[in-house]
Amino acid sequence: MKPIDSIDSIDALVIGGGFYGCTIARWLKRETTARRVLIAEQESDLLKRSSWANQARIHNGYHYPRSFVTAWRSRVNYDRFLREYADCIDGEFEKLYCVARRNTHLSANQFQKFCSDIKAPCRVAPGRLLRLFDPEMIDGVFLVREAAFDARLLRERMWGELRDAGVEIKTDVRVTNIAAMTDGAEIDLMDSGRTIRIRANRVYNCTYAGLRQFDLPKSDIDTGFKFEIAELALIEPPNELEGLGVTVIDGPFFSVMPFPAEGLHSLSHVRYTPHVSWTAHEWPAANPYAVLKDYEKRSRAPYMIRDAARYMPCVGNCTYHRSLFEIKTVLRQSETNDSRPIMFERHRGTSGVYSVLGGKMDNIFDILETLQKEEPAYV
Ligand SMILES: Cc1cc2nc3c(=O)[nH]c(=O)nc-3n(C[C@H](O)[C@H](O)[C@H](O)COP(=O)(O)OP(=O)(O)OC[C@H]3O[C@@H](n4cnc5c(N)ncnc54)[C@H](O)[C@@H]3O)c2cc1C
Repeated sequence: MKPIDSIDSIDALVIGGGFYGCTIARWLKRETTARRVLIAEQESDLLKRSSWANQARIHNGYHYPRSFVTAWRSRVNYDRFLREYADCIDGEFEKLYCVARRNTHLSANQFQKFCSDIKAPCRVAPGRLLRLFDPEMIDGVFLVREAAFDARLLRERMWGELRDAGVEIKTDVRVTNIAAMTDGAEIDLMDSGRTIRIRANRVYNCTYAGLRQFDLPKSDIDTGFKFEIAELALIEPPNELEGLGVTVIDGPFFSVMPFPAEGLHSLSHVRYTPHVSWTAHEWPAANPYAVLKDYEKRSRAPYMIRDAARYMPCVGNCTYHRSLFEIKTVLRQSETNDSRPIMFERHRGTSGVYSVLGGKMDNIFDILETLQKEEPAYV
């Protein structure tokens, strides 16, 4: 065992410098009595993992016709997200949702009815946009309201806000162990080959795909996870797709969205984006990050492009740049209805040791509300 270098005492440790960890750390410093708040991130920068490698879609409900609750919560959070992160939003594109003619779980009429139920703007797209699709394959094309965020701007903003708030940040450090106690925990951090032990009154495990890497006591909620190695192809769109995002639902179809952080579009496909999936109980209790590292990342972009072009021929003229591979983490309960609830766990027998999963970016507001209710005395 490596020697323990030093023991430091802090009020709160946030493990994981993704969007959730950063926002929670900022909240702790600004809104609670915590004085010393530290973020420990294993990567060389903040927001390098799933908070970067995603479709950048700010969900406004359309994506979730099979889960009314998720659709509705997205509607509730959408405008707030746009307001609070206005400087990180790309709203300068038209967004289309399309319904396929075959192999689909819902019809064009059902999609319109669903939009009306969740009170989401939706109108039949004008002729200039309809013409981009093969009418043999697509039944309905609708102009909707859905923006994208720029992960690069979000990262810059996070650095600025965390510094202003006085949050301490350590990158390139990996938390290797959490010994939970009745009041807080002792945590081991690997920093340049040295182990540093930290005593924290509160610990927030915000490691998304890594949530089960620590040997923490169970919580009162029975959660199982599904992990999936997901590929997003980054493409340079053909002229027709500039300033346009397209999602075909609800079945084995594609989605092409602006990816503002790199000035490209992302292309994903329900059939080809997921390469491998496993649940927390199936695969050897492996750390999903290690599984991804060892995975042979052979791109399926050609299949994605070829299939998408059957519905929208111009996609065939895009230029493929590269692919992002990341682990998507969802609760097992979401497998059937594709819902994206939040998960907030208080680990049994501990006070102040939590694990947090936000299934999508806009859920952050639901998590902050939950935190506020959880420990009113701390706020
Ligand atoms: C392919 C894909 C597409 C998606 N598309 C969308 C979308 O369009 N819209 C949307 O709203 N959401 C989308 N999501 C979901 C969204 O990306 C996540 O909900 C969000 O990024 C989660 O943020 P986070 O901070 O919890 O996770 P992350 O950003 O992954 O942060 C977790 C951090 O923990 C760090 N970490 C892990 N273990 C340790 C350790 N032991 N020590 C120190 N640090 C550690 C990691 O390095 C990482 O930086 C998508 C996700 C994926 C994977």
